[in-house]
Amino acid sequence: MGGLEVIADEPTPSPIKSRDGAAVLWTQTRTLLLGDGSTVYGCQHCDYTSPNVNAIRPHLQAHNSRRGKKTTTAPTGDLTLAELVARLAELDKVTAALDEWRTRALKAEKALRTLRNLLGDRT
Ligand SMILES: [Zn+2]
Repeated sequence: MGGLEVIADEPTPSPIKSRDGAAVLWTQTRTLLLGDGSTVYGCQHCDYTSPNVNAIRPHLQAHNSRRGKKTTTAPTGDLTLAELVARLAELDKVTAALDEWRTRALKAEKALRTLRNLLGDRT
């Protein structure tokens, strides 16, 4: 950073407002306060900095497009272990629910059969 110390590193408020009027923060565009009191804008992913905030977002495309391509061409190929475990846990829940319903259905079926037998015995 030109030998200057970065005193503060914060997300940059964008000119865009969300629907509820709250300011939208560009978390990938860092506002860097330097040791000499000047401010530059930096990329969250690498050492790229610029005094012009509008220079950061085009630069971020370099990082985004690579990630974007990965996720679109291989939607399940890039799962982290944590994501995989989370998905398996979801699957477990669904399977458990299905098992529970199957058990209930079998019980209901059995009860119905018993009832039919009882009725059958009476006639
Ligand atoms: Zn960068």
